[in-house]
Amino acid sequence: MSIPHMVPNWIGGVEQPAILGKLFDKISPTDGRVLSRCAASTAQDVDAALCAAEAAQPAWGALPAVRRGMILHEVVLGMRSRRDELAEMVALETGKSRKEALGEVDGAAALGLFYASEGQRLYGKTCTSAVDGRTTLMLRQPVGVAGLIIAANTPIANVAWKVFPALVCGNAAVLKAAEDTPGTAWLFGHIAHQTGLPAGVLSIVQGTGLEAGAPLVADARVGVVSFTGSTAVGRSISEVCAGRLAKVSLELGGKNPFVVCDDADLERAVSFAVLSAFSNAGQRCASASRFIVFDSVYEEFRSRFVERTRDLKVGTADNDDLGPVINERQLHSMLATVDEARLMGAVVLEGGHRMTGPAHAQGFYVAPTILEDVDPQWTISRKELFGPIACLYRAPGFEAALALANDSPYGLTACIHTRDMNRAIRFMHAMQAGVVSINGATYGSEPHMPFGGFKDSGNGTREPGTEAINIYSELKNVFIHADPTQV
Ligand code: NAD
Repeated sequence: MSIPHMVPNWIGGVEQPAILGKLFDKISPTDGRVLSRCAASTAQDVDAALCAAEAAQPAWGALPAVRRGMILHEVVLGMRSRRDELAEMVALETGKSRKEALGEVDGAAALGLFYASEGQRLYGKTCTSAVDGRTTLMLRQPVGVAGLIIAANTPIANVAWKVFPALVCGNAAVLKAAEDTPGTAWLFGHIAHQTGLPAGVLSIVQGTGLEAGAPLVADARVGVVSFTGSTAVGRSISEVCAGRLAKVSLELGGKNPFVVCDDADLERAVSFAVLSAFSNAGQRCASASRFIVFDSVYEEFRSRFVERTRDLKVGTADNDDLGPVINERQLHSMLATVDEARLMGAVVLEGGHRMTGPAHAQGFYVAPTILEDVDPQWTISRKELFGPIACLYRAPGFEAALALANDSPYGLTACIHTRDMNRAIRFMHAMQAGVVSINGATYGSEPHMPFGGFKDSGNGTREPGTEAINIYSELKNVFIHADPTQV
């Protein structure tokens, strides 16, 4: 099934156009053509989705969690049986290679499987009490209706990260799809519907953040909002949720450091540096963008890093290394920041421009870019660009490298390359980041592992893993009083 001419919403188990009949264009990042027209939803569509969610949630929440998990398992099987279609949609909408898109679908299905199985392990706990004859339990209950808002960078993974944990906990959910990947969310809705997810348990609303996302965040019927996106938008969502005392989970941006020590295996460090900076065209919250290299190996690392980057193949084929960025606005924004740094004296060692050759002319391709002589306080050092752009910094030694790594408003992921266990362990403890990687890449989450960031990278929650269960459930403490004399 390819992307429909008009991508509709899924409301209460039915495909629906936007109530006001408005549409927006989904543009292909590979060649700039209109791939599809999509429902441009507004508050009225969100209201319809929330009505459907409120109607469906009591029965869904009353199902034993094990049975909810079994239904979600069917959805996972549906994803696997339509693996190729899902991957084609992801590739079409993002410009990733088919191989990469298949990997993403497999990861999303593995995550779905983890949460489907959580239906069998939705543990509460028993607690001790100081009171005679009292037994205490902590039960988990659904929050009610979850509002889910996602980014487009890994579209099917992002859907899975939110939808499966929200649903296994017994919530109904309304997902506001990313406007750059409407077809992927729509196809997931199709699979969920086809595999027997009850109507209204998951509604999917297409549209922009302001027109469709904001009304979802503001609505009192939404008990928990889970958001993946930029820090600026996350902050505004957090303010709205605080005003109405709704739970909120924020998975936000990163400006992730990659430290290369003088004792690093340089070949290994360069391989992981290239992947961390440029895979998925640098559009991972966990991509590395700040490469902090010890003075004594700086020249050697720089020349190998530049050489490997020069060899990268940019395109959409399976043997290409990276594809386009998701839209033209992002492309202009990141290249404007590169130009600003250049004007301030930065040296562009590689890339730094839009690719305009015959194979790339119409698409949103940014040449893999490396800069040096960049001040750590400049915008390019502090702002997340979300593209294939890496900056090099020198450090005289370990403590200076660590301080520079921590000198960021963000704290999502961080990586160090060293053979020295003492450095690795000090880095592991002292790095202000939710994920630390030693001798690897800055990315690489797994379904059962908590992911999330310190500082401006989030609000302290972690998804996925069992930690996400706490976001999507309320805890209830129960006191049971017995009188032993009455036995
Ligand atoms: P974005 O914040 O512009 O948009 C993300 C989503 O929020 C979209 O669906 C958008 O429509 C919606 N939105 C925008 N304004 C809104 C509003 N006022 N109210 C409600 N919803 C609104 O982000 P983006 O540029 O699309 O995505 C890239 C960002 O996502 C990067 O910062 C990246 O680091 C982050 N990200 C974080 C993680 C993580 O797990 N930490 C994972 C992937 C992406």
